[in-house]
Amino acid sequence: MARERRTDPRAAPVAALCRDGETLLGAWPLSDLPRLAGSLFHPPAASDHVSWQARFGQETPVGRAPQTWLEVEARTHVTLQCQRCLQALQEPLSTQRRFLLVATEAEAERLDAESDDEHLVLVPRLDLLALVEDELILELPLVPRHDGTCPEPLPQPAADEAPEEARPNPFAALAALRKGD
Ligand SMILES: [Zn+2]
Repeated sequence: MARERRTDPRAAPVAALCRDGETLLGAWPLSDLPRLAGSLFHPPAASDHVSWQARFGQETPVGRAPQTWLEVEARTHVTLQCQRCLQALQEPLSTQRRFLLVATEAEAERLDAESDDEHLVLVPRLDLLALVEDELILELPLVPRHDGTCPEPLPQPAADEAPEEARPNPFAALAALRKGD
């Protein structure tokens, strides 16, 4: 537990954390994730937080090379713009992903193509906040919409407008003025 208090999650010593099977967890203000915050309909309130957890470990699957892994979970609430009624939409946003750690970017790309596992390059110091932010951005809905019906009534096109023939014809109005001369 002592390590959890002194480890900086923005510079996490991944190899040591995996070796020791550590878990880090905490909460960040949503405004500390500027790329995510900048894509929201409303700027985050001071009380909006992202709660997160990162578990580190290593194991040797039967008949395979030892694996070092990192599992990240995070959840928050965001305000998006409903693409149907254009009003604000509160959405829970969460992610959970397990990464196998590998030595190089080339190896990560090769293994990503070969398997369903996600791979991450093992760096001496990992910025967990940036990783969590990347993962949450990936979870944003492409077309946010209220579930079912929107709370605000939609503008009714045409139906509430005056029928065509009842509208004053600007040319007729002009002709009437001329007649009055
Ligand atoms: Zn809506």
